[in-house]
Amino acid sequence: MRIVEPWIKVEKIDGIKIMKRIERACRTCYRSEGSITEDSYKKLLNNCITRGHESVLEHEKVTVRIYNDIGSYKDLTRHRFANFSVESTRYCSYDKDKYGNEISFINPVYIEDKEIYETWKNTMQEIEKSYIKMKQLGATTDICREILPHSTAAEYTMTANIREWKHILSLRTTKHVHPSIRQVLIPLLKYFKEEMPEIFNDVAYDEEFKPEYYAELKIEEEI
Ligand SMILES: Cc1cc2nc3c(=O)[nH]c(=O)nc-3n(C[C@H](O)[C@H](O)[C@H](O)COP(=O)(O)OP(=O)(O)OC[C@H]3O[C@@H](n4cnc5c(N)ncnc54)[C@H](O)[C@@H]3O)c2cc1C
Repeated sequence: MRIVEPWIKVEKIDGIKIMKRIERACRTCYRSEGSITEDSYKKLLNNCITRGHESVLEHEKVTVRIYNDIGSYKDLTRHRFANFSVESTRYCSYDKDKYGNEISFINPVYIEDKEIYETWKNTMQEIEKSYIKMKQLGATTDICREILPHSTAAEYTMTANIREWKHILSLRTTKHVHPSIRQVLIPLLKYFKEEMPEIFNDVAYDEEFKPEYYAELKIEEEI
């Protein structure tokens, strides 16, 4: 059994370029492309967002790759305007060499009580033992997945347009949301706030969530 930390990879974006491309698309509505200046996108985006003319944000998209527990994608895949490619628990057989012949579980670092944490850990160990035993007895991966818990680590790629990201990040970074999701999405929101302040600055998040719980955010050319 491996206890692993979550991470989120995001493709390297140029926020100003994204916002300028949205501006250019939006100005089609008023045929005001001639009014574009170095920073005209700021006022235009502000007007669009405050007036609810948000469909223009759908012209641009961002893809991320997330390594987190199954529970996190169970919740995130409810968002109908995002696209997902999720590691298959039907196909990936964790007793294989490729996976180190073991199951990886995401460390629930936010469980602060030692006794509760130990109980979680012991349970994961028992689950892994049973998974391997079932495999040895000839069970298919389909059958073995029945005993995988929410804590099982999995990778998924998620793509959404800017409007949907704004919606998802508004809903999924508050204190009402499971900590495993806050771990990955608060760092992403902070990155978007830096890159695209005119779009994301008004999105509130759980500022009391401890930064030491944040997942590592990796910014890469190719994810
Ligand atoms: C804190 C929290 C707790 C939750 N608890 C539960 C729970 O206990 N059980 C449960 O089942 N779910 C739960 N959910 C999931 C929630 O009900 C939504 O299914 C999920 O968040 C997707 O949100 P959405 O529909 O706004 O988003 P998206 O699917 O991303 O849609 C974006 C927006 O498009 C519009 N839209 C999309 N489809 C339609 C449509 N068919 N008709 C009209 N407008 C549409 C809406 O404005 C919507 O907000 C919870 C979510 C949160 C954030």
